[in-house]
Amino acid sequence: MAEIIDGKLLAAELEAELKANVLKMKQKPVLATILVGNDPSSVTYVKMKQNACTRVGIDFIKIELPENTTTEQLLKKIEELNDNKNINGILLQHPVPKHINEGQCFDAIKPIKDVDGCSSTNFGMMCLRNTQYHLAATPFAIVSLLERFNIDVKGKYAVVIGRSQILGKPIAMMLLNMDATVTICHSKTVNLKDIVRTADIVVAAVGNAEFVKREWLKKGVVLIDAGYNKGNVGDIDLENCKDIASAYTPVPGGVGPVTIMKLLQQTYKSALLIQTGKFK
Ligand code: NAP
Repeated sequence: MAEIIDGKLLAAELEAELKANVLKMKQKPVLATILVGNDPSSVTYVKMKQNACTRVGIDFIKIELPENTTTEQLLKKIEELNDNKNINGILLQHPVPKHINEGQCFDAIKPIKDVDGCSSTNFGMMCLRNTQYHLAATPFAIVSLLERFNIDVKGKYAVVIGRSQILGKPIAMMLLNMDATVTICHSKTVNLKDIVRTADIVVAAVGNAEFVKREWLKKGVVLIDAGYNKGNVGDIDLENCKDIASAYTPVPGGVGPVTIMKLLQQTYKSALLIQTGKFK
């Protein structure tokens, strides 16, 4: 029977450790979240992050900006938060409305405060194995799950479906740095199914409910489902794929809860670096 890569379990372990660490601090870490517009999923994600901050003792500041906010106005807000010495982490909730230059806004966040690991600087540093600052939270969660559940990656063939800046690209680079052989697929990939069929590890980061089907998979494959779609389902048709996998992340209760903990862990790390004078 396939092993369940239990995100709830790992998240609970990380939460307990983080709560104990935060308690020892003289000054609580502070995370500022910017939400532009009122996309219902984003509103829910921000609420979940706020609740998690409350549980571990991290102060949470919520900044809500209207849908018609311009890139310039958002950049100005980010600059204010960068300059505010009391704020340790800045999270710009993805996705922002389409008229905003999201990449430019991510890159405006100082690397030390980019606790969601979305900036080009933090991405580049991660690619070069420099973990001085922060990693993209969802890919970092996936790596932690693989490690926690002793899933061997070295020499394995991993296929990542999706190439977004926050998920597909960084998880592909992380798996490469863990000595996997990696292929990245996207919407223009030809013969996707044939490529997926050869994979030892499949990471689905597509944003399309139950997109990956049983017939595309090799027996014994490890399934990492980063997707989260309406109806509480991921990007893999897990119900029909579970029995041929050797291990899989459930949805919900897989990658999601660990992602939130990674964001909080990195906020703590940022606060610690700033408070101990290791970063000015
Ligand atoms: P995104 O920015 O929309 O990127 C989706 C990627 O999938 C793109 O690279 C796209 O290719 C590719 N794609 C779309 N249709 C495809 C197809 N038919 N065949 C192959 N590739 C296809 O999405 P994202 O932000 O990376 O998120 C992906 C999923 O992860 C979503 O379900 C989201 O809700 C979930 N997510 C979960 C967490 C968590 O904490 N669990 C965090 C973030 C996101 P192109 O580049 O060619 O367009």
